This record gives sequence, structure tokens and C-alpha cells, in this order.
Amino acid sequence: MLSDDKYSFRWSDIGDISLGRSNLGNTTNVAVYRLMQYTMRSVLNSRFGSELASEMFYESGKLAGQEFCKNRLNCNQPFNQFLAQLQEQMHTLNIGILRIEKIDLENMNFVLAVAEDLDCSGLPITNETVCDYDEGFFAGLLGVYTNKDFEVKEVDCWSKGDRVCRFTANLKV
Ligand SMILES: [Zn+2]
Repeated sequence: MLSDDKYSFRWSDIGDISLGRSNLGNTTNVAVYRLMQYTMRSVLNSRFGSELASEMFYESGKLAGQEFCKNRLNCNQPFNQFLAQLQEQMHTLNIGILRIEKIDLENMNFVLAVAEDLDCSGLPITNETVCDYDEGFFAGLLGVYTNKDFEVKEVDCWSKGDRVCRFTANLKV
């Protein structure tokens, strides 16, 4: 076993929130989430450069998507039901409002749009997409469900001046 295995993510790392936060409960403020994300991005950018920092966010999102799929979704149901459950979960957990814009099961390519995205809705316009974590998240989810490797790219983002984040998902070649 590798020595750094103890740092590998397990769903149990999230802990027993109802036990630990009996008064404050299960919710926080979106600003707090973004404060962590964008300070972390800032540090990773300055230590490793923006390209590697983006890759780290993508990879973390992918791991999150894989674990989310295994722990919060039923991966053994028909694809439409799987997507409906994902949509419902993303709404319930206030991640964003998911709309499936294109499903091509034959070629395994999809277009997903997220309105009111947790990561970027309301951000200043920088003309760059910022949702690397979400790209990875969808790649992880689709990867576990289909047992194939996906490449997900954000093509529209609030921070590019769009009203929704839009992602294309294709099989990795
Ligand atoms: Zn975005």
C-alpha cells in the first residue's frame, strides 16, 4: 500500500454532519464555499501555474463525480432515469439547475447546461471559463455510469458573459 493512501478520499471523510452540527445544520453560505474555492485556486495558480491548477480542479471534480455517483445515485438504472435523478440531486443540494440539451447515446456525446451554478453564477466577467471542477464532476459521473472515459469541456460560462454554464461531454479518444 502506498504511504499516501491514508489521504485518499473516502465518502466517510464528509463525516456525520447531523451529529457534528446539531445547531448549525447541513447548510452554509455560497460565499463561504466560493471563498474556499477561489482562495485555493489562487494558491494553486501561484504555486503551479494556471494550467496545472485547472487540471487539479478537473481531477478533483472527477473524483467527486465518481464518488457522488457511487454514493448518491443509482448507477444501475436506465440512462434517462439516471439523468433525472442527477437533475433532482443537483437541485436538492443547491448545486445548480441542470438541463440536458443533447443526448446522443450512439456516439456517447452529450450537452449539459447548468443554470445558477454554484461555482460561477454572478462572477465578474473575465472571458474565461472557470468551472474546471464541474467539468471533472460530469466526467466522473458519466465515467462511472458508462464505465468509459469521458472528456468534458465547458463551452459557456457565466464568467464568459453567458447566463448558463454549458458543457460538452465526449468519449475520450
Ligand atoms: Zn461556469
